Amino acid sequence: MRNAAVPAVMPNYNRLDVIFERGRGCALWDADGRRYLDFGAGIAVTGLGHCHPHVTRALTDQAQTLWHTSNLYRIGELERLSDRLVANTFAETVLLTNSGAEAVEGCIKLARRHFWAKGEPQRHRIVTFEGAFHGRTMATVSAAGGKKLVEGFAPLLEGFDIVPWGDHEALEAATTDETCAILVEPIQGEGGIRVLPPQCLRGLRELCDERGILLMLDEVQTGVGRTGTLFVHEQAGIVPDVMAVAKGIGNGFPVGCMLATAHAASGLTAGTHGSTYAGNPLASAVANAVLDVMLEPGFLDRVQIAGERLRGGLLGLIERHPDVLEGVRGHGLMLGLKLKGTAAAFTKSALAQGLLVIPAAEEVVRLLPPLIVSDAEIDEGLATIDQIAREAAP
Ligand SMILES: *Cc1c(COP(=O)(O)O)cnc(C)c1O
Repeated sequence: MRNAAVPAVMPNYNRLDVIFERGRGCALWDADGRRYLDFGAGIAVTGLGHCHPHVTRALTDQAQTLWHTSNLYRIGELERLSDRLVANTFAETVLLTNSGAEAVEGCIKLARRHFWAKGEPQRHRIVTFEGAFHGRTMATVSAAGGKKLVEGFAPLLEGFDIVPWGDHEALEAATTDETCAILVEPIQGEGGIRVLPPQCLRGLRELCDERGILLMLDEVQTGVGRTGTLFVHEQAGIVPDVMAVAKGIGNGFPVGCMLATAHAASGLTAGTHGSTYAGNPLASAVANAVLDVMLEPGFLDRVQIAGERLRGGLLGLIERHPDVLEGVRGHGLMLGLKLKGTAAAFTKSALAQGLLVIPAAEEVVRLLPPLIVSDAEIDEGLATIDQIAREAAP
């Protein structure tokens, strides 16, 4: 029933006032036919751009063949997807989910169950980091612990020890004989593109090996080619025991997955965890189509080249507008532009100029263009940022 006091769409988001009607590649168009250059990719989701022909064909072909059967039966596309993820990562086994939060939730359950099955149920605590974002379920907000995520939702899920980013002593102290895992984003996305330096990621790997606990990476935002390698941890030369993936793997179709070693996943036996939709023929066919494109030789090299071009351009703009722009951080096409003003104001100016960027914490806007972005589109985005900075200059 209509209630004038509340919109029919529950207002749990502060939405910008624009409705996009269609998209192609790196461009979106609104109802008036105005074109926008998309440097947000739906928050690092549409890595192959809007309506990528190969992915669209896979989706529509599968939609005419078979959508859903349930996980009571074998699923061919799911088996093919899992085989390919295993062939191209550290993982030996894969569990599909419908979202990033569900993938992280799976990691949390896997870690507890791993030690329970080993007869060490007291090892159930997970070390996490301040400023993290792992999703919006009760377990994943409890894991991240930020005030905006948890306020009003108590009682939270017990068992997370949240340490300050970069505080080695706190990390050591929090890792006790009750710890089962460390859960971390190699680059904090929502937290403002805060990069965990490769030596710190290697340090976490060593700490987990020493203590016999699981290293669990949340690569929901960093993964699937975003940083110029299939997953960002590859650049540090380490492998995790468990990893959460989503966003880019579906290019906009809701699908995620949890990747793990056989050892880490040993507790998740038949009947212990699951989801009705996860990995259904439609979702798996789309993810397979994404991998078809991304695993083509040269695709990830091009992401690195594009990332360098964008970063180089941004560095030039920072030099030119030191009163407005402060710095750039991140890897590949996951870049954070640190501002001397608010991310919200910058995002609004960008929208007005036909450029989509994504605000993050700490006066940072994220530039997450589709991985297929051309040199001309990068230069167009840079020219718009130049214009915004010129107008914002004091
Ligand atoms: C987006 C995100 C999630 C949550 O994914 P949803 O699909 O929104 O549930 C978890 N972790 C990270 C690092 C993310 O960026």
